[in-house]
Amino acid sequence: MQGQMMDYQLTLPTLLRRSETYFGANEIVTRLPDKSFHRYTYADSCRRARALAVALQALGLERGDRVATLCWNHYQHHEAYLGIPCGGFVLHTLNLRLHPNDLAYIATHAGDRAVIVDQSLTPLLDLFVDRTKIEHVIVVEDGYEQLLSGVDPDAWRDPELDENEAAAMCYTSGTTGMPKGVLYSHRSTMLHTLGVAAGNPMGLGISERDAILPVVPMFHANAWGYPYLATMLGAKLVYPGPHLDPESLLDAFERERVTWTAGVPTIWMGILALIDAEPDRWDLSRLKGMLVGGSAAPRSMIAGFKQRHGLNVVHGWGMTETSPVASTAQLIGDLQEADEDTQFDYIAMQGVPLPLVELRHRDVDGNILPWDGESMGELEIRGPWVAGGYYDTPEQADRWTSDGWFKTGDVVSLHPRGYIQIKDRSKDVIKSGGEWISSVELENALMAHPAVAEAAVIAVPDPKWDERPLAAIVLREGATATADELRAFLAPDFAKWWLPERFEFVAEIPKTSVGKFKKTELREMFSGIPA
Ligand code: AMP
Repeated sequence: MQGQMMDYQLTLPTLLRRSETYFGANEIVTRLPDKSFHRYTYADSCRRARALAVALQALGLERGDRVATLCWNHYQHHEAYLGIPCGGFVLHTLNLRLHPNDLAYIATHAGDRAVIVDQSLTPLLDLFVDRTKIEHVIVVEDGYEQLLSGVDPDAWRDPELDENEAAAMCYTSGTTGMPKGVLYSHRSTMLHTLGVAAGNPMGLGISERDAILPVVPMFHANAWGYPYLATMLGAKLVYPGPHLDPESLLDAFERERVTWTAGVPTIWMGILALIDAEPDRWDLSRLKGMLVGGSAAPRSMIAGFKQRHGLNVVHGWGMTETSPVASTAQLIGDLQEADEDTQFDYIAMQGVPLPLVELRHRDVDGNILPWDGESMGELEIRGPWVAGGYYDTPEQADRWTSDGWFKTGDVVSLHPRGYIQIKDRSKDVIKSGGEWISSVELENALMAHPAVAEAAVIAVPDPKWDERPLAAIVLREGATATADELRAFLAPDFAKWWLPERFEFVAEIPKTSVGKFKKTELREMFSGIPA
């Protein structure tokens, strides 16, 4: 027997109407390049998003056409996040930190017909636009305003999209192989937004009363869904523009009374160092929590924020392919009453999945592994906001299992309570004498040493053991530590054969376009030198 409920389509115009109707007076604030603040309301933003939808149609774009953005985090980018999909087009966020050759490939592969670009990024666009099929270049500080002023926002009509039509696309920032496009649907975006709201971490909750500052760039995996989440809830949004240094961010947190923020660990390491040095300079009493993800948040950093500053780090895990938020480190059951050390152990893991997301891990022979906190295997995931394929990349079909799970490429163990613990990307795991060593665990432990600012551990070839770990270390300013001291620091917590023989002291760890350790580059730097 069939149920008799409406076949209501989950599409983004619903969010647009909701925020305009109920939260129109609430604020969206942007820090401009000159560091002043631009302020307007959700009502203004939605009106301009509708105008954008109408204007793109007037340019001759058709349903399903891809419209790229090459922008920092600001209110016009927010308008594009809503206006493009609500016009029936597909928002394609381009990563402004990529090489022009990669951008040429990505924009061509996606078939972008138009691009909205910050004035300051037009020199970058000029380096690749001729190699793409982009017909319309719309400069934010220039043509964009003209485009919007030339149309009537009230001419916008909900295109009555099918919920499975594409709303947005994003290419993975993978460090190997060609970038691959993930095509989010209206349905997956709406469900992800609801899922993130429902899975509000650790009872901190996010609501209309919050002020959210997404540090995560809007060109990285939907800005982790914050533009849509804030729009759905009517929460105040604070966009940092291009000002992502710790000092500017702390200043914005204080001035705009930010309660919730999100970004990759390298950002928070910088912020922690600054507030450790000057603990009384900023009033962060309103900050309820910060979502940290994209790479592993070191336990020492999580504990440092909480113990020295009373600030909550919420650790999250996800991928471009998972929209991206798939799990958050909540304290479930009796862990809420556990001692602080135990709580930090769990929060430093990658958490439990959001509602509607399911996980398992399997060994190289395909056997499903037990959730014993020990057995390491590849994490597989399924759920309504997990990619079911890559855009026009049939050769990657083997990333999905025959029974419908996505193979993440992350090597994990799953704990009896269900917590994920990421040990490595499968290509980063160190295989020594037939056994696996987790680079992430060694890095986390090293970053707890007071002299260490950053640590990245990579595999280097070894004639006897196949591979051995090498630790690249950035020391804190003015601090000293020797390889022997660091090895002795690790020794109590690890098996002897896990300890790196080699430590390399470097000025900085190379980073990817979204701020993760770039291990391929480290391997190129060090793999040639014999141990
Ligand atoms: P991206 O698609 O660029 O967001 O990269 C996704 C990958 O980042 C995942 O497959 C993980 O390897 C890594 N990652 C994301 N969040 C975390 C986390 N909290 N801890 C460890 N690794 C993470």
